[in-house]
Formats: sequence, structure tokens, C-alpha cells
Amino acid sequence: MILFKRIADLHKYLDAQRQTGKKIGFVPTMGALHEGHLSLVRQSKSCTDLTLCSIFVNPTQFNAPRDFEKYPVSTEQDITLLVSAGCDLLFLPAVAEIYPEGQRPAVHYDLGMLESVLEGKFRPGHFQGVCQVVHRLLDLVRPDDLFLGQKDYQQCMVITRLIEQTGYREKTRVHICPTLREEDGLAMSSRNRRLDKTERATAKAIYQSLCFIKNQLRPGELAELTETAGKQLTEKGFRVDYIEIADAASLAPCPSWDGKQKLVALAAAFLGEVRLIDNLPLN
Ligand code: AMP
Repeated sequence: MILFKRIADLHKYLDAQRQTGKKIGFVPTMGALHEGHLSLVRQSKSCTDLTLCSIFVNPTQFNAPRDFEKYPVSTEQDITLLVSAGCDLLFLPAVAEIYPEGQRPAVHYDLGMLESVLEGKFRPGHFQGVCQVVHRLLDLVRPDDLFLGQKDYQQCMVITRLIEQTGYREKTRVHICPTLREEDGLAMSSRNRRLDKTERATAKAIYQSLCFIKNQLRPGELAELTETAGKQLTEKGFRVDYIEIADAASLAPCPSWDGKQKLVALAAAFLGEVRLIDNLPLN
């Protein structure tokens, strides 16, 4: 695996590869890698010629400074994992390399309703920061294929929208890859490392509550179902931001169900200081 820290070096290398007809797959991450990330690398390897992973903890997408400060970093271990997964290239830039003109956003991205529901509502400015860094990375890498995890369901929708609004609609294909879970159902996440033993044992309840919603789903009003799921989490010690059912294609709130509309259940909840998110397509 070749490691790049400088944009100029990465550019030069990718341009040369592109000229030989190679298709470039891109897996952007914030590091503290786990099997979920590696599954994206493997997916990229299976359908492109060259897989580039980036590790960059993007300061502009953290709305809570403490969350940024406490974000786990394990670069040495990440490199070992990427090598073992057969990743070809790693981009590991410093903040000044990504934001040479400072971190203030130059543009405001029109994300419509996505910015005011669920994660958008509870993390103001988060998706603007995500768009800022992903747009920058797309401009640097110009990938043929981009690999994202369904674990971050709303983020997948935001980035798809970003791609539709920028010049990448024709250039870059988006692949949304399934969520990898621990044996007890907890969605793999870098943040899981911050859970203590008791919290880690409790954390599986998020997935269980999403499964509860899936199993109990019936046509009609949905408020009681999500309230019950929320109570299950609160009783176990979670501080729940939301557990909701939404339209799977738009994330519009879905107060009642006609038995046909495609739905997804999404949750975000704190255990101690650690905020966990998960989702489950329902039908
Ligand atoms: P992150 O490093 O958390 O920003 O994630 C980088 C990429 O990995 C994003 O596209 C995530 O959606 C994806 N990802 C994170 N966790 C998982 C998981 N458990 N399964 C599949 N993909 C994941």
C-alpha cells in the first residue's frame, strides 16, 4: 500500500494511473477502522482497479468540540488493517492540506429537508461539514466509484444529493454497502471503542429496538410504536435523541403507514458521553 500525505503527490500518482485506463475506487473514512470500513475496501477492490482509502477526522463536521477531541485515532493499527484488506493507496492528509484557506465553508449546500430532520435536526451544521469535506475529497480524487456505508443512512442521502448537484453526477458511481454488525447486533462504529464494559453490553439495545419496530410494524398510526421503542431505550439508560420511522427514499417523517410505502427506522442515542446511531430498513 502506498501512503500519501500531500495532495500534489496523490494527484500526480492518480493522474498517471488514470492515463493507463485504471478505474479508481474511493473509500473516505475518519479512521479508527473496523470490519465495516474494511468491507467497503473489499467491495471497492471487487469492482475497481485501484482502491484508495482516506483517513481524515474532519473538524468541520463536529458540532460538539468534545466529540472531535475524543474521536478515536489509531493510525498504526489502521494501516495494518488496510494492508491486510489489500487496500492499494492511503491518503492521510493534515488539516492544513485539506483546508489551506481555513475551515470556513465557501459554499452553502442545498440539502433541503435532509438538513432539518433526524441527524440534521440534532447536529446543526453537521451535514454542511460533511459536504464540505466530501466535495473537497471528490475534487482531489475524482473517483470512478465511491463506497459508503448504509450505517450512516442519512449521510448516504446527503452525499448522493451532493453528487447530483456537483459535476460528479456523470463521473462517479455511488455504492451503498450494508451495515456490518457485531455478533449481538450492535452496528460496528469507531465510537464503540469509547464505551466502557457495561455500556458496551447495553449498546445492543439500539439494534434490538429497531428490530422490535420492524417486527411490530402494522399499517396505521406509528407514533405508539416509536414511543414504545424510545421508552425501551430510556429504561436501559440511553439518552435518546430520536427513534423514528421515515420514508426510506426521502426521510420524510411517516406518522402513519399504508402497508406499501418503503420505510426505514432510524435511531440516535447517547450512552454516557458516546452518541450512537443506527438504522434498519423495515420492508
Ligand atoms: P466513518 O469513518 O465513521 O466516517 O465511516 C467511513 C465510512 O464507513 C462511511 O461511509 C460509513 O458509513 C462506513 N461505515 C461505518 N460503519 C460501518 C458499518 N458498521 N458497516 C458498514 N459501513 C460502515
